[in-house]
Amino acid sequence: MLPPHPSLSAPFLEPQPIYPVENMSPYKPCWCGSDKKWKWCHKDRDKRPRIKIGRLLSDMREQFSQGYCSHPDAGPESCSQKIIRAHTIQRRGGLAEITEEGHVMSVKAGVEDIFENEGRTAPKLDGVRGASTFNGFCGFHDTALFRPVEVGGTTLSLESVFLLTFRAIAYELFTKRAALRGVPIQREMDSGAPFPIQAAIQNELHLNAEGMKRGLADLETLKDRYDTAYRQNDLSEFSVYAIEFEEVLPVVACGAFHTEIDFEGNQLQRLGRGKAEFEQIAFNLTTLNGVSVAAFGWLGGIGGPSAAFVESFKRLPDSAKSTAVIQLAFEQLENTYMKPSWWLGLPDEWRNFAISKTRSGTGLADREKGALANRPFPFSTAGVRSVLG
Ligand SMILES: [Zn+2]
Ligand SMILES: [Zn+2]
Repeated sequence: MLPPHPSLSAPFLEPQPIYPVENMSPYKPCWCGSDKKWKWCHKDRDKRPRIKIGRLLSDMREQFSQGYCSHPDAGPESCSQKIIRAHTIQRRGGLAEITEEGHVMSVKAGVEDIFENEGRTAPKLDGVRGASTFNGFCGFHDTALFRPVEVGGTTLSLESVFLLTFRAIAYELFTKRAALRGVPIQREMDSGAPFPIQAAIQNELHLNAEGMKRGLADLETLKDRYDTAYRQNDLSEFSVYAIEFEEVLPVVACGAFHTEIDFEGNQLQRLGRGKAEFEQIAFNLTTLNGVSVAAFGWLGGIGGPSAAFVESFKRLPDSAKSTAVIQLAFEQLENTYMKPSWWLGLPDEWRNFAISKTRSGTGLADREKGALANRPFPFSTAGVRSVLG
């Protein structure tokens, strides 16, 4: 066993603060951290017209449409011309199993509407065509790389979980990069506001951006390690744990997250504390060969936070596992989709609980320790058929 992750005993690393000032030398870098000179940034910002929120949001969304190919061998010579809207969850199989009349319930679409909805993030109906997509692969590489998990008859194996994991990591990196490109756009939203409001808004944005930068650096490193493993065809550092259920679950999800807490309420890592590298695990909840599978993939030592996370999952009784993975998708991932009739048919209390989960972990507070251990509602009673890892 490894010793506990260093972040558990390290102090919170406060990002360098910003020091808002009403007046400064016009050609010095602005106090807000935009890298623009004050004269062109916060000078007289209170006198500028207010930014229309719709415009701001569409400019930020635009960042997510700037695509590139995430294949380890991507480049002008190997990629096809067009970057496509690649599915993170395969459309046939995965999404098809929960689609009704061309639609799925989307957690992600709800989160994207957070501003319009005054902070609420209720999942909403979304067309299956665009659901779970990102502009993260060229057409050629998307097809070539994921053919083994897209065609019928795919079963769980080290290789298939590696591909699902690779796609999850590529998606998270893409999303983080796009979100960070949105920061300079958000910095404009205090136009027309008095100075104290400008200071508060910029401070909030600054803290948020510093956290995102750190997360991005972690993901860049991680993606490099996956690229190398793929190119060298060396999966010796790669660990998997996956289970196959006896039936199709009403939820699919794909993404990666820091293993902060486990299924028994233990703290594994504390984000923002110390300088040690944080471990992330990829999680796919999808359908292969006509049944739901939950697959974890990670790079990291035996006894590290991700391995401990998976061990706590293994110890759950089989009858609790399908509910546990559904709750995990709500708790940790945005890229989560539900079968509409299932979602709309849930008791209000269950649905509200699920919605509250999709909001947790935002901001600087630690994730609640019992967030995965307390499972008040049995979202599924599906049994376990087989296990890999
Ligand atoms: Zn400024
Ligand atoms: Zn490509």
